[in-house]
Parts: sequence; C-alpha cells; structure tokens
Amino acid sequence: MAVQAVTILGSTGSIGKSTLDVIGQHPDRYSVFALTANSQVELLLQQIQAYNPRYAVMASEESAEQLRSNTRQLGLETEILAGVEGLSRVASHVDVDVVMAAIVGAAGLLPTLAGAKAGKKILLANKEALVMTGQLFMDAVRDNGAELLPIDSEHNAVFQCIHGSRSDSLLDLGINKITLTASGGPFRDTPINQLKDVTPDMACAHPNWSMGRKISVDSASMLNKGLELIEACWLFSASPDQVEAVLHPQSIVHALVSYIDGSVLAHLGNPDMRVPIAAAMSWPERISSGVAPLNLVDIAQLDFYQPDLDRFPCLRLSMEAMKAGNLATVVLNAVNEVAVEAFLQRKIRFTDIPIVLEEMLGRAVNRPLDTISAVLEQDQLARIETEKWVVDRSGRL
Ligand code: NAD
Ligand code: MG
Repeated sequence: MAVQAVTILGSTGSIGKSTLDVIGQHPDRYSVFALTANSQVELLLQQIQAYNPRYAVMASEESAEQLRSNTRQLGLETEILAGVEGLSRVASHVDVDVVMAAIVGAAGLLPTLAGAKAGKKILLANKEALVMTGQLFMDAVRDNGAELLPIDSEHNAVFQCIHGSRSDSLLDLGINKITLTASGGPFRDTPINQLKDVTPDMACAHPNWSMGRKISVDSASMLNKGLELIEACWLFSASPDQVEAVLHPQSIVHALVSYIDGSVLAHLGNPDMRVPIAAAMSWPERISSGVAPLNLVDIAQLDFYQPDLDRFPCLRLSMEAMKAGNLATVVLNAVNEVAVEAFLQRKIRFTDIPIVLEEMLGRAVNRPLDTISAVLEQDQLARIETEKWVVDRSGRL
C-alpha cells in the first residue's frame, strides 16, 4: 500500500497534535507533507524536527521569517511559506493525498476549500468552515471529486453508524433521526445566577475532553452543539427537524442513528479524539489509535437528559439560526467567534455571549449568500458590528 502524504492545517492545536500522534504510530501508512501554525514558532519547529515535512506554513510573514531563520540554523530542509496563500498551496498541492482541516474558526475556510477544490481527502475538524458555507462547501467537494470525512466525534460516530452511506435525503437511507450527544460542559449543574461570574479558565476546564480554548468555551455555552447540529444537516443531508442534541454527561455514546423500523445504532468510545481521527484516516479500514479500550463495567452508568434551553440560550439561538438558513448561520458563527475571544480576554462576561448573538441575529438583513465572497463579506460585517458592541459593553463592565 502506498504511503499517504498528509497536510495538517493547524498542527500545533489539540486536533493537530492528536493527528501527529496517530501518524507517528503508523509510519508505514502516512507521511507528513506539511505542517502549519498561527504563531507558535517554537512548537512548529519541534514538530518539523520530529516529522521532517516538505513544507511548513505560518499565518504571518513575520513568524515565517523567524521560523525560516531557526530551520536554517539547524540545517533543516523544510520550505517555509506564509499566509492564506501558503496554507492553500499546501492543502491543494499535487503530491498531497489527505488534508486534516484543524484550524479553528473562519481562518480555516479558504485553505480547507482549496483542498476540496483540488479533490483531496478532507478530514474535517474545522466545523466553522462548513457552518459558514454549507451548500457551497458540499458542492465544491462533490464537483471536484473530493472525499469528506468528519472528525468531530459525534459526526464521525454517525458516519460509522451509517457506514459512510450518502444520499440526498436521510429517509432514503431509512433513517428518521440523528442524535448528537453533549456532555453539558463544566456548567451543566452550576446555578444559573452564578454564570455571569464564571472566568475563562472555569469555562475551559471541560470535564471530559481536552480541547483548544475557543471550542472549550463553545462547549460550556453549548453553542458548539448548535454548530454541530448545523454541521450534521450539511454532512448527512438532514433537515433541522431530523437532528437533535441530548445531554450525556459521561461522553461515551457519541451519536445515535434512528431507523424507521425502530432500530437505533449508537457509537461508543472513550472521549479521546484519536478514536475518530484514526477511524477517518484509515476508513474504510481500521488502524490502532493508541486509545485505551473502553471498559463499560468501570463506567457503570450512562445517563441522558433533555438540554435546558434556559440554561443554554446559545443552543436555542443556534437552533433558531439553523432553521432560519445560511445568512443566520454565517452571522451566528462570526458573532460567536468575536464574542468568545472578547470573553477569553475578559472584555465581556460569559453571559454576554448569548446577548450579543441575539442582538446581531436580529439585526442581520436577509440577502442571498451564493458565493464565497458574499459569505466572507457578511462574516466581516457581523464581526465589525460585534467588535463595536464589545467596546461599548466592556466600557460598562
Ligand atoms: P486549537 O486552538 O487547539 O488549535 C487551532 C490550530 O489552528 C492551531 O494550530 C493554531 O495555530 C491554528 N490557527 C489558529 N488561528 C489561525 C489563523 N488565523 N491562521 C492559521 N492558523 C491558525 O483548536 P482545536 O481544539 O484543535 O480545534 C480545531 C478545530 O477542530 C476547531 O474548528 C474545533 O471546533 C474542531 N474540533 C476540535 C475538537 C477537539 O477535541 N479539540 C473536537 C471536535 C472538533
Ligand atoms: Mg464534537
């Protein structure tokens, strides 16, 4: 079997590191073609030394220059590129087989899309890219013969339950519902009146998963599950009323697929992203991931609850946006990215996130978003408005 060349967009992040861990266990199957990072020069240098990629990309020319001088001193041959152009180049290069899309947020959109347009096997962790562009993204995958494999644990679980089947409608597969589970995050049981005082570190202390800070805050607000419901609609051709979220504090069952005959298939696994990463990388074969075997006797109990939409207004708002359509989901994602960053920088409160989301979603003027540039323009507009709101709000904190 030929060794597959892998580009990891966002190799210094949580998903990026787990991907390198899996690749490191299977040098006979995978080689690293390119690694990329936003600003972590030191860590990217270490990864270059360990995996010897042909290319490495930094988000800015300044960090790229710093990395270049470090690699030169060490006599490393990796070529260093910069910016979205560099990212798109390593995602679409003729010698690449697989692109792990693991940049966080809208910054990952254009390079991931470049990989899809070049017909690559795309392993999609960067859910924000799909939430923003939905149909345009799915069309790019289909029209260019790319392959799209979900990395998000819940979607990878669904993908495994349905054996990767595709159809224009869920019902054609005999499926009437997709259920994604959610742990409820660190504030599942926090008294609601205390949520206004929670700190970024409290929000990022997830009980079951270790993740980047943005997705950790999204998990605490459950906006992450909202993005995932939208993601599931696009990936599996489901309508908003065919997807649902249930709380499951143990994070062992990742998703359930309900068939019209009453059968329900579930996917179980320890909460470690190397499980879906290994499953997607080797699909339809199987490889080891390094994750400990699941021991249900130790876990003993699996609980499921209805999420409380008063406790998690971000979930309610994202479900409303999912029903309203693409303009609303673009605004939802953009406003949330700015609001989460402002919360992480302590400019606004955790409880301000749903407030600004509701206000900006209410203000958005409906218009067709039928090109990528229209999506990016709308994304920018929403960001500018939200930045203004944050300045105003932080002045009053
Ligand atoms: P992270 O913050 O740990 O890593 C993000 C990566 O993106 C880093 O390598 C960073 O350098 C890079 N990056 C950030 N901003 C960039 C920019 N402007 N330009 C270029 N590169 C940039 O995040 P993560 O937890 O690894 O999550 C990555 C993506 O995977 C997110 O979309 C997240 O929703 C999704 N995801 C993560 C998990 C998880 O367990 N961590 C699970 C499911 C889905
Ligand atoms: Mg997930």
